[in-house]
Amino acid sequence: MSSHRDLVFDNGFARLPEAYYSRVCPTPVPDPYLVCYSAEALALLDLDASEMTQPELIEILAGNRLLPGMDAMAALYAGHQFGHYVPQLGDGRAILLGEVKNSRGEGWEIQLKGAGRTPYSRGGDGRAVLRSSIREFLCSEAMHALGIPTTRALAIVGSDRPVYREEEETAALVTRLAPSFVRFGSFEVFYYRNQVESIKHLADYVIARYYPELAGRSDPYPEFLRQVSLRTAGLMAQWQAVGFSHGVMNTDNMSILGLTLDYGPFGFLDAFEPGYICNHSDTSGRYAFDQQPNVAAWNLTKLAQALVPLMSVETASAAIGDYPQAFNQAYIDRMAARFGLPPGRDTAGLAMDALQLLARNRIDYTIFMRRLCDFDSTPGTLNPALRDLFLDRAGFDSWAARYAAALRQNGPGDAARGQAMRTLNPKYILRNHLAETAIRRAADERDYSEINRLHALLTRPFDEQPAYEAYAAEPPDWARKIEVSCSS
Ligand code: AMP
Ligand code: MG
Repeated sequence: MSSHRDLVFDNGFARLPEAYYSRVCPTPVPDPYLVCYSAEALALLDLDASEMTQPELIEILAGNRLLPGMDAMAALYAGHQFGHYVPQLGDGRAILLGEVKNSRGEGWEIQLKGAGRTPYSRGGDGRAVLRSSIREFLCSEAMHALGIPTTRALAIVGSDRPVYREEEETAALVTRLAPSFVRFGSFEVFYYRNQVESIKHLADYVIARYYPELAGRSDPYPEFLRQVSLRTAGLMAQWQAVGFSHGVMNTDNMSILGLTLDYGPFGFLDAFEPGYICNHSDTSGRYAFDQQPNVAAWNLTKLAQALVPLMSVETASAAIGDYPQAFNQAYIDRMAARFGLPPGRDTAGLAMDALQLLARNRIDYTIFMRRLCDFDSTPGTLNPALRDLFLDRAGFDSWAARYAAALRQNGPGDAARGQAMRTLNPKYILRNHLAETAIRRAADERDYSEINRLHALLTRPFDEQPAYEAYAAEPPDWARKIEVSCSS
C-alpha cells in the first residue's frame, strides 16, 4: 500500500488525439468534506484507508487540486436518448483526472462526477447533488459485490455549495473508477460526423487495451463488435436475474466494456413487476424493467451502425446477430441456478412460471428467491415460509409440487442446493427506501453513518447478517412515495 503521492499515472486516453476530448480542469468547491469511501475501491489503486485522513487527498477528490501526472479532461460522445439521436453530449459534469497503473498492472481511470462545467455541459451546471451521489456510490459498490460488472465508486466528497434542482440541494462529487468510460456513444459521434478515421482509431485503442486477444487480427472489428454484444448480453442477463432496472438506457450510458454505467434513477424490484418503471421521467416506459434486454439489442444496432464504416452492413448485423441467443442462454442458465436447478428447457419453464405467480401475487422478488433457498422438497411439505407470501395458495401449491419433483429428480439434496443458492440469491439489495433513509440522514443531519452501514451490509449481500434483518424486509408504506427521475 502506498500514499496517493506515489500514484503512477499512465493516461492512455489522453494519448489519443484531441478529437476525443477537451482538456478542462475541475472547478474548485469551497470547504470540501469526506462523506464516505470504499476501502475496496481504494485498494484498486493500492491505497490504504488511512489515506482518507489526508486533507490533500480530499482536496483532490473535490477537484480543488491535481496531482503531478494527472491530465484532466472531459470526453466527447453523442448518443441516442429515448430513441432520438443527440449529436453532442460528452462529459458534461464528469472530469477524467487520469489513469493509474496499480501494482497488479491494471489500469484504472479516475473520474470525478460533479466536478464543474465542461465544454459539453450544454445548459447544465456541471454539478451533482449529494442525493444522487449517495445512490451512485452505494449502488456501484453493491453491484460489484453481487458479481455484476460495473464502474466502481471510490468516495463521495461534499461541499455546502448550493446546487439548484427542483429545490436547493448541496453539491457532491463521486470519484468513479473504471478501466475505461468509453460508451457506445463515443463511436456514434464520429459516425454522424462522417469521421471514419476517428471511428477506426478509437476502435483500435479500445481493442488494443480492452480486447487484446483480438489485437493481432487483420480485421478485428467484426469480432470486436460481437464481443461487445456478448458482454452486453451477459450484463443484461445479470440485471434481469437480480431485478435491477437501470432507468436511462440511452446509448451514451452503454459501456463498451459491458459495465453497468451511469447510475441515475435506477431501482431494484421490490414486488416482482415485469413492467416496473423506475425512472419517474420515463412516461412511455421505454426503459421498463422487462424492456431492458430488447433496449440493449436496439442500442447494439446503433453501435453496429456506427462501426459500419469499418465493415459491411451484413457483417455488422451478423456480428450482433448472436445477441438474442446469448442473452437467452445466459439468463436461463442464471435463473436455473438461482432456482437450484440444472439448466434446461423444463427448468426454465418452472422458473418462468414462478415469476408469473410472483407478478400476479405481487410478491417481493428478493425475499421469495432467498426463502426458496430453504425449500423443503420432501413430498407433502407445505413450505409455509414461502406459501404464506401468496394470496393464491393453490397456485403456489401446484407450482411447489412441480418444483419439489424437479428438485428430487435433479438436485444434490436440499441442504447442498440451498447452500449453493444462497451464493446466488442475495439477501440484501439496495432498495430505494434504504438509500432514501441514508440520504435523508446525510442531508438533514450530516450523519453519514447510515451510508456506511448500508455500504458494509451490501458488500456482503449473500451473507446472513442477523443484526440487519430489517434491511431485508419489504419496503415500508412511506417508500411508495419515493420518486426518482433524471434530475441529479
Ligand atoms: P445522463 O442522463 O446523466 O447520462 O446525462 C446525459 C448528458 O447530460 C451527459 O452528457 C451528462 O454529462 C449531461 N449532464 C447531466 N447532468 C448535468 C449537469 N448537471 N451539468 C452538465 N451536464 C450534465
Ligand atoms: Mg450518462
